[in-house]
Amino acid sequence: MEISLSKRLSKIAPSPTLALTAKVKALKAKGEDIVGFAAGEPDFDTPEPIKEACIQALREGFTKYTATGGIPELKEAVCNWIMEKRGLKYSPSQALVCCGAKHALYNLFQALLEEGDEVLIPAPYWVTYKDQVAIAGGVPVIVPTDIASGFVPDPEALKEACSPKTRAIVLNSPSNPSGVALSRRQLEAIAGVVVEKNLLVVSDEIYAEIVYDGFRQESIASLGLELYERTFVVDGVSKTFAMTGFRIGYIMGDPKVIKAMNMIQDQSTSNPTSIAQKAALKALTLKEDVVSPMVRKFHDRRDLMLAGMKRIEGVRCFKPAGAFYLFPDMRFLLGRKTPKGVSLETSAVLAEALLEEAKLAAVPGEAFGMPGFLRFSYATGEEEIQKGMDRLYEFCSSLRM
Ligand SMILES: *Cc1c(COP(=O)(O)O)cnc(C)c1O
Repeated sequence: MEISLSKRLSKIAPSPTLALTAKVKALKAKGEDIVGFAAGEPDFDTPEPIKEACIQALREGFTKYTATGGIPELKEAVCNWIMEKRGLKYSPSQALVCCGAKHALYNLFQALLEEGDEVLIPAPYWVTYKDQVAIAGGVPVIVPTDIASGFVPDPEALKEACSPKTRAIVLNSPSNPSGVALSRRQLEAIAGVVVEKNLLVVSDEIYAEIVYDGFRQESIASLGLELYERTFVVDGVSKTFAMTGFRIGYIMGDPKVIKAMNMIQDQSTSNPTSIAQKAALKALTLKEDVVSPMVRKFHDRRDLMLAGMKRIEGVRCFKPAGAFYLFPDMRFLLGRKTPKGVSLETSAVLAEALLEEAKLAAVPGEAFGMPGFLRFSYATGEEEIQKGMDRLYEFCSSLRM
C-alpha cells in the first residue's frame, strides 16, 4: 500500500545536523575512533542543583499537567532573567514557555504567517528557520552575507530583498553557525530597515549568554519602543545551562500573538514537561553562577581550535565573539583530491571525506546556506579538539591538486 504524504512536507527536509550527529553516533557505536565536531549542544553535564530540583519535583509528585504556557513562577523567572540580562521589561502575559526554543519558533511562525508571506533569513542561518517558515506556508527569502563583511547582514541587501509580502526578519546573534555577534551599531542599522519596511523581528538569542572577551549581547528589542513592539525574543535554557534534553525554551513579545501561540500549544503539545519546568525555574533563579565557568571553558576551547585552524595554510576563519562554533572558509580545498582519490568538489563532499578518511566530523556549510564552509563545534574536551585539529591538519596536507 502506498500512503501519500501531505504536500506541505515536500517543502521541508530532514535536519542535516541531526542526521550527521546520528551518523557519528552510529560509527562510534561500531567502535570507530571518531572526533566529533558536529554536535550542536554543550558537552557539559547539567549543573547538579538543577538536576536536584528536577528530582525533587518528581519526588513531590509534580507530575501532572500544568498551565499550557508554563507555571506562573517560571514565567515570572523568565521575565526577571531577560530584564536582568538584556534590560527588557516583559510581564508574564507577554511570555510563553515552550518545549524548547525550537518549539517557540515553530509556534510563532504558525501564529503569524499567511500563505505566501515572506520572511528574510540572512545566511549562514540555523537551518530550522527556513523549514519552519515553509511548513507554516511562508516563503523563506535567503539574504546572503559574506565572510569579508564578517557575516553581518547588509542593510541595503535586506532592503532589496523586501517585497510587499515581507512580514518578518529572523536574527540570530550570536549566530549558529558562524559565532558572529552583532554590535549595537550593527543592530541599529538593521533596525532602520525593520522600521522602514514595517517588519516584525524574530530575535533568536539562545546564545546571548555564551559570549567572550567582554562582549555583551544586546537585544534588538532594546533599541526603543518601535523595535520592542515588533520583536519576539526567543531564548531558552538548553545552551546556557547545558539542558538540551529538558526541552524548555521561551518567547516574549506582543501579548496578542503570545496568546495565539498559547492556543496553538493548547491544541498540540499542551504544557512543557512539568518537572523540566521546575529544573528550568531552578536554573534561572540560582544564586550561584554556574554559567561563567562553562563560558570560560568554551573560551579556552575556542582559542585552542582557532590556533589549530591558523596552522593550516589557506584557511580563513575569524574569531567569533559568541556561541561555540568556528565557521572557517574551506573553499581553498575544493577541487583537490584525497589520498583515496575522492575529488573534493563541494564542502558536502569534503565533510564526507573528512569523516571517512580522517575520522573527523564537521557539518558542511550547505546545511546553513553557505557552501564552501564547514562548521566546527568546540563543545567538546580540549584533548579531543587537539586530536581533531591534528587530524584536520594531516588531512589537508595529504591532499593533491
Ligand atoms: C540550539 C538552538 C536552538 C534551539 O534550542 P532548543 O531550546 O533546545 O530548542 C535555537 N536556535 C539556535 C540557533 C540553536 O542553535
